[in-house]
Amino acid sequence: MNRRRRVYEGKAKILYEGPEPGTLVQHFKDDATAFNARKQDRIEGKGVLNNRISEYLFSRLAEIGIPTHFIKRLNMREQLIREVEIIPIEIVVRNIAAGSLSTRLGLEEGTQLPRSIIEFNYKSDELDDPLVAEEHITAFGWASPQEIDEMMALALRINDFLTGLFLGVGIRLVDFKCEFGRLYDNEVMRVILADEISPDCCRLWDLETDNKMDKDRFRRDLGGLVEAYQEVARRLGILMENKTAERTGPVLVTSK
Ligand code: C5P
Repeated sequence: MNRRRRVYEGKAKILYEGPEPGTLVQHFKDDATAFNARKQDRIEGKGVLNNRISEYLFSRLAEIGIPTHFIKRLNMREQLIREVEIIPIEIVVRNIAAGSLSTRLGLEEGTQLPRSIIEFNYKSDELDDPLVAEEHITAFGWASPQEIDEMMALALRINDFLTGLFLGVGIRLVDFKCEFGRLYDNEVMRVILADEISPDCCRLWDLETDNKMDKDRFRRDLGGLVEAYQEVARRLGILMENKTAERTGPVLVTSK
């Protein structure tokens, strides 16, 4: 494993050169960071869970026609992906006020938003991923107006689909972050979903109790992060109790 060429190392993942040109291996670490790595820890088992959950969500999204970088899961911590040129913009979709939106606008956490809101953050560790407007993105050439339109349309479809998927298993999708990349196919360039979608980059609240089942457990020192991620995986029907466990599919939660 160590002889593979490391292409990139981020806070929670490593990208290695893949077996064929145009592919990469995405490795999920157990490292947890928050506040741009000012808070750090290792949480045993987190990487394995995020690999499984992200595989599951990307596969379901592909089934409804969302183009993604995911090819297949290779092992407990790794997946084979298509190499893309990452667009340096994080797309955040929000359904319910929480986190930085609540702080910025003085909205009580849990307030239902009048409609889903999309925000853009410029990916820059030095600048703490600042919130930017479309004007900044096009003026500085980070993405073209067409790419912004495509990312927004895909992000809204992803939001609609995941909102329903999670509601079916008793979880509210409060907000999430996603990233897109450019895939060059001969002369044609396509914008496709990249990175990961996991409880590390979503806010997931239990429908009945509002219990947090996401990285806020780490950010806010609530404890029980792995247990919460396991519960998300269990409800989605993908928890591997042991290596031979079969996927059973989502577990429908009926309201009382
Ligand atoms: O912190 P904030 O409220 O802006 O986060 C909105 C959503 O985006 C949350 O689900 C959070 O997990 C995700 N996010 C992320 N990576 C970042 C910033 C936010 O995954 N760098």
